[in-house]
Amino acid sequence: MSRPAPRDDLRALIGYHSPQVDVEVRLNTNESPFPPPAAFVARWLAELGSVPLHRYPDRSARLLREALGASFGVPASRILCANGSNEVLQSLLLTYGGPGRRALVFEPTYALHAHIARITGTEVVVAERDPDTFAVDPDAARAAIERFRPHVVLLCDPNNPTGTSDGPRVLDALLDASSDAGPALVVVDEAYGEFARASAVERVSDDRPLVVARTYSKVWSMAALRLGYAVGPEAVLGEVESVLLPYHLDAPTQLAGMLALDYQAEMKARVSLLVEERGRLLGALEDLPGVTPYPSGANYLLFRVHGDGHAAWEGLVERGVLVRDFSRRPRLAECLRVTVGTRAENSRFLDALAEVLAGAPGGGSARGPERVTAPPAAREGGTR
Ligand code: PMP
Repeated sequence: MSRPAPRDDLRALIGYHSPQVDVEVRLNTNESPFPPPAAFVARWLAELGSVPLHRYPDRSARLLREALGASFGVPASRILCANGSNEVLQSLLLTYGGPGRRALVFEPTYALHAHIARITGTEVVVAERDPDTFAVDPDAARAAIERFRPHVVLLCDPNNPTGTSDGPRVLDALLDASSDAGPALVVVDEAYGEFARASAVERVSDDRPLVVARTYSKVWSMAALRLGYAVGPEAVLGEVESVLLPYHLDAPTQLAGMLALDYQAEMKARVSLLVEERGRLLGALEDLPGVTPYPSGANYLLFRVHGDGHAAWEGLVERGVLVRDFSRRPRLAECLRVTVGTRAENSRFLDALAEVLAGAPGGGSARGPERVTAPPAAREGGTR
C-alpha cells in the first residue's frame, strides 16, 4: 500500500510517552497516590444512572462551569472546561497561536508546552531559567518578550519538572512586558497550583490578558477522567469556543467535576498530607550525601544525583521503585524527579535511594521484559 504522508512539520516531532515499567512503587507521573473519596465515587456512580446516555452532553458544560466559577467567586463566563488541562492548553494555542505566531516557554519546563505548540503550528521560542535555581528572572523574561514578541507566553508555576514557584513578581513582569509587546496572552499552567502558596487565579480579570490552566488530574485524584479548566477573561475564553469540537466534554466527566467540588475538605486534607510528606522527602534528600534536591511547590521533587543520574534511576527500578529520569534532558543533567506518594511509598523510595548511593547490589524486583530497558527517548520525553 502506498501511504499518505502526514504533515511535513509533524515528522520533526518525537512521540511523547511515559515508560511503563512494571514495579511496585510508581512515583513517576505526579498522580495522586490516593483514589478519590469513596463517598464521592458512590454519589457519582449513583447519579450516573440518571444521565440520558442517548443525548449529547451539555455542550457548554454550563453547570460545571457555574460550580467551578462559584468555587473561585467568578462568573461561569470566566471558566472554560476541557478534557484535561492539556486540552485547555491545546485549545488556547489553536486560538492564539498557530502558523506565523510564536509561543514563549521558559526551559527547562513541561515538555508538552513546546510539543502542543508545535502540533498547533505555533513556533516555539525559548528563554532560559536560572541554571542553578530554575527560577525565571523577571528582567530576563521582559527581555525575552521584547526580543521575540510572542503571541502566547507559557509559564508553568509550579514548574514541572523542577518544582519551582515563580510567583507574583515574575507574573507582573510577564504581564507588563506582554502588554507592551503585543499584547500577548499570558498562560499560567497551574496543574500543581493547589500544592503551592500563591496562585495567579486571583489576578484574572476581564481587562487582563491572563489565563490560568488547572486540572482535576492531581489534587482531585481524577487523572483517569480527563478534566481540566481555565480561568480567564470572558472575551479571551469566548474566542476559544471556535476551536472546540462540539460536545467535546462527556457527561460523566462533567458530572464528576461538579460533584467533586462538594469534597473540598477531603481534597485539602490530602494536599496537606502530601505537602507534609514533601517536606519529609526534601529533608531526607538534603541529608543524603551525593544528592541535591530542589525546593518544590508541587507534589514532586526534582533532585540531582552527583555522578550518574541514569544509573541511579536504574538502581531504583531494580529495587522496585520507578521515578522519572530527566538525566538526559538538556539543562537537567543528572536529574531525577520523584512524585510524592504515600508515606510508605516515600520511605521505600528513600531506603532504595540510600542503598543505590551506597553502591549496594540491586534487588531485581522490576518485572517483565521492560525491566530497565525503556528506550532513552521514552525515559526522557513523556507527558507527565
Ligand atoms: N500541565 C502540567 C505542568 C502537567 O504536569 C500536566 C500533567 N502531567 C498537565 C498540564 C496536564 O494534565 P491533565 O491533562 O491531566 O489535566
